Amino acid sequence: MASNSQLFDRAQRIIPGGVNSPVRAFRQVGGIPRFIDRGEGPYMVDVEGHRYIDYIGSWGPMIAGHAHPEVIAAVQRAATRSLSFGAPTVDEVEMAEAINALMPAVEMVRLVSSGTEACMSALRLARGFTGRDAIVKFEGCYHGHADSLLVKAGSGLLTFGNPSSAGVPADVAKDTLVLEYNNIAQVEALFAERGSSIACVIVEPIAGNMNFVRGDPVWHQRVSELCTQHGALLIWDEVMTGFRVALGGAQQVYGMRPDLVVMGKVIGGGMPLAAFGGRADVMQCLSPLGAVYQAGTLSGNPVAVAAGMTQIRLIRQEGFHSRLAASTRALMQGFEQAAARHGVTLRTDCEGGMFGFYFSETLPRSYPDVARADLEAFKRFFHAMLDRGVYLAPSMFEAGFVSAAHDDAVIAATLEAADAAFASLARA
Ligand SMILES: *Cc1c(COP(=O)(O)O)cnc(C)c1O
Repeated sequence: MASNSQLFDRAQRIIPGGVNSPVRAFRQVGGIPRFIDRGEGPYMVDVEGHRYIDYIGSWGPMIAGHAHPEVIAAVQRAATRSLSFGAPTVDEVEMAEAINALMPAVEMVRLVSSGTEACMSALRLARGFTGRDAIVKFEGCYHGHADSLLVKAGSGLLTFGNPSSAGVPADVAKDTLVLEYNNIAQVEALFAERGSSIACVIVEPIAGNMNFVRGDPVWHQRVSELCTQHGALLIWDEVMTGFRVALGGAQQVYGMRPDLVVMGKVIGGGMPLAAFGGRADVMQCLSPLGAVYQAGTLSGNPVAVAAGMTQIRLIRQEGFHSRLAASTRALMQGFEQAAARHGVTLRTDCEGGMFGFYFSETLPRSYPDVARADLEAFKRFFHAMLDRGVYLAPSMFEAGFVSAAHDDAVIAATLEAADAAFASLARA
């Protein structure tokens, strides 16, 4: 078979950057992306036959490990009954009921095919329900790549946003306000100024797209109060945290009940499946009941639902998340101890099966904090780990993911690699 570097050359000639999603390209860390041949439990194997302990897990979905036999069997069974109908199925109803059982805030739900689509639809719904145009997001949170969400802060706090991507009309971006994560004063000032024009606030309750940044419970509470007070909807984007930081997602961790919830990643088990849901009175504004249009040829695809439902059954088993959280904590404590042994400055945090580590003195609270960490140290550590068979996210701005297949032996092997990697950093 061709090598990673031969494949990367070939891919770059025909696919922009050689990849179908930017962070796969290793641009922040340099080097050649690995072309993956297969996954087995906690491992990925590349086309050259190198085996890696995988801490990306397809960026979150693979919480039961790669190629879980029950998930694969369910997909095979579903596939033999045809791949798609464009008509309702029993399994979709079952999945909607399962989501509602795990996340009580989700009184009604609609299935879609990607997190981007789910976020875009939730925004349109919030705007349709409130009859308002402005939306609020936080710097460093990612909600997929719909136009309204590819926006960075304007020049001052109370100015509307600017596009963060070429191709996003300024006219669209002007309705998106961008504030600093965990900053209470900014949200208060914004609502005082323009509360009556805000349709919704969308937030990652624990941010996983700027490394791992925990939302402060007091800040979350204040944002929620302000939304209620001003008639804006609170949307929690749990595409990453849902079913991962706890069985009931971040809503369970914080004991909060947002108006709308966006889900993805884990609920598809590795297939293209996502969802948005929440208050019944809001969800009933969707077509065909209401005036907010939303649709999808492959929405609720039977093969994707079969994979997702099977994985949901696995994670609902007694003790699944407590074991996952224990492995993740052991991994992060091991990183801190190994770094300390070699005099490397490192902090870590985690919740459930999601983690972050930072080459800095303190835990980050916002995007500027994350950006201040030592990027050079991160790059060297990333490659030192990859060379030792551990595949971490190739960017300092991404969270890490542990699966149930990462048993004690796999965590121990990772920590052995980490010890050597931190030692090599200390020598450099
Ligand atoms: C991954 C992610 C999305 C986008 O989901 P896609 O399926 O990649 O479109 C949206 N929000 C959050 C929080 C995510 O982590």
